[in-house]
This record gives sequence, structure tokens and C-alpha cells, in this order.
Amino acid sequence: MTATILDGKALSATLRGEIDAAVAEFTSQHGYAPAIAVMRAGEDPASVSYAGQILKTFEKRGMTASLHTLPETATQAEIVALVQQLNADPAIHGIMVQEPLPKGIDEAAVKAVLSPDKDVDGVHPVNTGRLAQAAPVGRPAGVAPFFVPATPAGGLEMLKRNDVAISGKMAVVVGRSTIVGKPMALLLMRENATVIVAHSRTPDLAGVCRQADILCAAVGRANIITADMVKPGAAVIDFGVNFVDGSMCGDVDYEAVKEVAGLITPVPGGTGPMTNVMLAINVLEAARLQAR
Ligand code: NDP
Repeated sequence: MTATILDGKALSATLRGEIDAAVAEFTSQHGYAPAIAVMRAGEDPASVSYAGQILKTFEKRGMTASLHTLPETATQAEIVALVQQLNADPAIHGIMVQEPLPKGIDEAAVKAVLSPDKDVDGVHPVNTGRLAQAAPVGRPAGVAPFFVPATPAGGLEMLKRNDVAISGKMAVVVGRSTIVGKPMALLLMRENATVIVAHSRTPDLAGVCRQADILCAAVGRANIITADMVKPGAAVIDFGVNFVDGSMCGDVDYEAVKEVAGLITPVPGGTGPMTNVMLAINVLEAARLQAR
């Protein structure tokens, strides 16, 4: 059996069409476009390139995107002052603080200064807390609106838009970072999956993964998920971004696993293209909430 390929490029194109229509409607209703501010301290090459992609994506969507940079030598106080300035600017609806921040900067303290209403990257403790507190789908919501980090939000969207059953299924998430693994696990639990979170101290990773109807890999190690670790017919979501001999690959041994899985995301072209569009959806939602 060869798995159905979950095509992130195609799905992100569909979502971009939906976002364009929603942005046009928002802009004609309010007289301004949803706006994101991307801020960075230093010139980390991956951050520079990612910021460029965000600006391009947002401008193409009819949204406003601005870049705010500080030098590598910026102090904690200068970085915090920039966040506070962006928090106070009513023309900015979403703020993304790019990581890594320079050595010696307390990243958690910077995130904590963000206005939770503008934290479109879902990194402020209020947003992570509200995700943790959110009631399961199908029960009364209970908490105020919140933002989920774009990468796991994109993974969930891929499952839903491809009609993958989640409720009552066994899900295994390998990786427990605050930006990918943990929020993905919480999202799946909220969708009524039974969730196991595996990490570097998990014994018998293969045995744990084989239980999964939905297997998500967010590790950052090429080929850590091999075919013998995958239950036949499982949906496999690969968040990993690795480079082997100059070629990008995920955490999953794609060629072998696609012969066992029922559905699989390729790398590149799977979860990656979803991230920017999910961020755009969060900024649109932030602008809507702030316009109320
Ligand atoms: P982190 O390094 O923060 O987390 C990696 C996780 O993998 C940790 O929880 C770690 O466990 C776990 N891990 C490490 N080694 C093993 C092992 N041998 N067995 C089981 N678990 C292990 O990474 P991120 O979550 O930030 O990123 C994960 C991957 O996703 C990376 O490749 C990254 O580039 C990619 N990524 C992709 C994005 C996209 O748009 N698709 C966006 C963001 C990231 P422990 O907690 O015990 O240390």
C-alpha cells in the first residue's frame, strides 16, 4: 500500500485563496488591513530568510507587514522597549518575536511582555495556558480566544482538511517543545484523541510509535521514524526540517514509511508551507478581535 500524500503546497494555496477573500472583506469593512510586525535582534541567517518570507506572504495577501530590527548588541531593556512600543501601536494587530534572540537575552521574559492579544505566534504564557485549559471540542469553550503556534496549527489543519478521523484515535507526538510538540499534543487531545507524548527519555520509542493511528514527528533528526515504527494505515505528520548532504528532509524515513502509512506529509512540501498561512490566519483573527 502506498500512502496518500498530504500535500501542504496545495492546501496552503487553497487557504491563501480563503485568506485573500477574508482580508479583502475585513479591509473594506474597516478601512485598514490586518497588520503584523516582525521583530528581530541580530542577523541570524535563518531568521533573516524567514522574515523575508513572512513579509512577502503577507503583502501578497493584502495584509500589512513591517520588520523591526535591533542589532545583535541590543540589551534586554531595548528589546523589551521595542515589544512595548509595538504592543501600544494600534495599527499593529500581531507581533512575532523571531528567535533566536542574542546570547544572554532572557527569551521567556521577552515573550511575557508581549500583549497576549497580539501574540499571533502563540508563545505568551496566557495563550499557552488557554490552550491547555481549552475544553475538548464538543463541550462549552470555557476560555477566552487564544492563539496557537502556527506550525502545530498547520499540522492539525492538514489532518482536518483531509478528513482524518481524530476523535477516539490514538495519537503519538514525538517531541515536546513549546512551539511544536506540546501544542500539537494539546490540540489533538482537544480533538478527543488519546495522546502519548514521546521525547528523548522515552524507552522503546518504536513500540510507542507503533500504537499510533496519528503519528507526529517534531524532533529535528533525519530518519528517526522508520517504517517498522509505523502502524499500517497510520496518518504520519512530519514537522522535522533537517538537511542531509545539502537536501532538506524531515524526521521520517519518507520513502520507506510511505509504503506502510495511510497518509503522509512529505518534506519539503508538507507541514512547512502551512506555517505562514496559519500565521496569516492568526493575524487576521487578531485584527478582528481588536476591531470589536
Ligand atoms: P526542539 O529541539 O525544541 O525539540 C525536539 C524534541 O525532540 C524534544 O522534545 C526532544 O526531547 C525530542 N527528541 C530529541 N531526540 C529524541 C530522540 N532520540 N527520541 C525521541 N525524542 C527526541 O525542536 P522543535 O520542536 O523546535 O523542532 C522540531 C523539528 O521541527 C525541527 O526539525 C525543526 O526544524 C522543525 N520545525 C518545523 C517547523 C515547520 O514549519 N514545519 C517550524 C518549527 C520547527 P527532550 O524534550 O527530551 O529534549
